[in-house]
Amino acid sequence: MTATAVDLDVRDPLRAYRDRFVAADDPAVAAYLDGNSLGRPPKALQERMASFVAGAWGTDLIRGWDKGWFDKPVALGDRIGAAVLGAAPGQTVVGESTTVSLYKVIRAAVDQRPGRSEIVVDRGNFPTDRYLVEGIAAETGRTPRWIEPDPAGGVTLDDVRGVLSDQTAVVVLSHVAFRSAHISDMAAITRAAHDAGALIVWDLCHSVGAVPIELDATGVDFAAGCTYKYLNGGPGSPAFLYVSSRHLESATQPIQGWMGVKDAFAMGQGYEPADGIRRFVSGTPPIVGMLGMEATLDLIEEVGISRIREKSIALTEFAIEKYDRILAPRGVELSSPRDASVRGGHITIDHPAFPALMERLWAANIIPDFRPPTGIRLGLSPLSTSFSETERAINAIGEMLA
Ligand SMILES: *Cc1c(COP(=O)(O)O)cnc(C)c1O
Repeated sequence: MTATAVDLDVRDPLRAYRDRFVAADDPAVAAYLDGNSLGRPPKALQERMASFVAGAWGTDLIRGWDKGWFDKPVALGDRIGAAVLGAAPGQTVVGESTTVSLYKVIRAAVDQRPGRSEIVVDRGNFPTDRYLVEGIAAETGRTPRWIEPDPAGGVTLDDVRGVLSDQTAVVVLSHVAFRSAHISDMAAITRAAHDAGALIVWDLCHSVGAVPIELDATGVDFAAGCTYKYLNGGPGSPAFLYVSSRHLESATQPIQGWMGVKDAFAMGQGYEPADGIRRFVSGTPPIVGMLGMEATLDLIEEVGISRIREKSIALTEFAIEKYDRILAPRGVELSSPRDASVRGGHITIDHPAFPALMERLWAANIIPDFRPPTGIRLGLSPLSTSFSETERAINAIGEMLA
């Protein structure tokens, strides 16, 4: 006899954290399974926002830049590095959108490998990653080299080995695949890229805050990731990027702005990049956009990423058990790994009827995500998702299919 959702919620050591998010039990949302696309707002953010408006912005005004805002991109980067990236200080910075941050690090990586003509990327990667590689290849006279991964799995070490050569400049991969949630082997793939003389850029959007990451220990060169997914930073909150200290002296970034120079307020002639990770800053940092992730980092630091991962695995295991009982008999396919050790924080299920079902689910206040052509993606955000709402969503999908 398997445990019921209610039992699992009662026994969940992290159950109290659900109440630390705004409206987690509001009846207007029967089940929110899209925290991997837009995390719920942490309750503490309301107070943080109010005091920021009244104090730091309201009365410090321009003096705020001297009271911490100027250093915030690096200070907050260090905090993210320690809490969820396995990154020592001085290698992570918070700044622009994920897309722009990825552009900066991919471009920086490619420029470190002159004379090599290929950038490796996979067909299953998120569109922005693929489009960026196409654009950077075109502007630097290189060619994308495509991996065709198993859509229900993801990029494997063998896939990468199959395309590496002495022409590979850079490999660009997602740590957790946005559709299947497959976790690629960061350590082994990074090593293989290095053995071929190439550099690697990891997109961490779907792993950061849900899956433990060891950027320093695995020898990663460059990385970037979202903060509005499992870091609950709010819609459009700025991304972080990581540059290994090994590259910080030689790496240059393509958007040379005044905030990333040695002495920004000298306003001098000629771009002279700052030392360290600060050189990856471009313009005035989005301070307001950083407040949400700070409130979430308070929670993550309290819990620790390994307990978050345990809850995450328990949630996806439970969802797959429910899938086996309720959805598999109705012809729904599981498009995510069954092996929890290579599965991130969500699962995707496919059925030809799903495109027509989405509107009905949302109308019933059941909110998963849709991924074409026929996928429903169930995002299970460890700190804010309950077993009961996971069950409610899968039951509703089963009833609507019947
Ligand atoms: C969500 C996501 C992005 C988003 O990029 P934005 O510039 O923030 O829109 C990029 N890559 C991956 C893998 C994602 O999951």
